[in-house]
Amino acid sequence: MKIEIIKCLQDNFTYLIIDKKTQIACVVDPSEAAPIIKFLQNKKINLKYILNTHHHHDHVGGNIELKKKYDCSVIGFKGDKDRIPEIDILLEDNQIWKKDNFEAKIYHIPGHTTGHIAFHFFKEKKIFTGDTLFSLGCGRLFEGTYEQMFNSLKKIKQLPKDTEIYCGHEYTLQNSNFCQANDPENLKLKEKIVRIKDHLKKNLPTIPTILEDELECNIFLKAKDLKTFSKLRDLKDNF
Ligand code: ZN
Ligand code: FE
Repeated sequence: MKIEIIKCLQDNFTYLIIDKKTQIACVVDPSEAAPIIKFLQNKKINLKYILNTHHHHDHVGGNIELKKKYDCSVIGFKGDKDRIPEIDILLEDNQIWKKDNFEAKIYHIPGHTTGHIAFHFFKEKKIFTGDTLFSLGCGRLFEGTYEQMFNSLKKIKQLPKDTEIYCGHEYTLQNSNFCQANDPENLKLKEKIVRIKDHLKKNLPTIPTILEDELECNIFLKAKDLKTFSKLRDLKDNF
């Protein structure tokens, strides 16, 4: 399984998951169709599945055009069936989605939106977290409660430490400033920031991040209780 990172819009990440044996691919959160079409041009890749973590336009904007062009299936959360464009396959919490050589466990992780999900390719130890968990940050609460987001992050925290995290946006540097302001003595964080800046200088994405790094450096994952988490979430909104 190979992951290709395609930058879309301002700071969105769209991912192509390619099965090397069959050349069949999934696209995760296509913000727009054009960069994906461009990437696939002159390649023998068969785009069969569109996986959506949530209904926001910068995650589903390419659904209609890509489905039309490649005849792929759109896969998303059952509860969002009326707001994910062209949805075909409805998923539930804790379900295993299995097609061709792809196998992912679905987690319902509300908070950013009420219908947000993550796709966990558990054999490959890769998780697509959309706008719930970012590197060194977490999503804004647009529809959910502090408690929902806190519990959603808790689910992700329990995965194996070497899990690779693929999130929806390149927000890592801005997020790192907030982490540093609230956790100034954290040496691991300082080291991670050096690596982040190095990547960005070379125009490379800071993604994937590893869960172990996030557990040590992401102030939202370090929050030990709901009250601490909620306070941090409020502070971040005004940072
Ligand atoms: Zn969003
Ligand atoms: Fe987004």
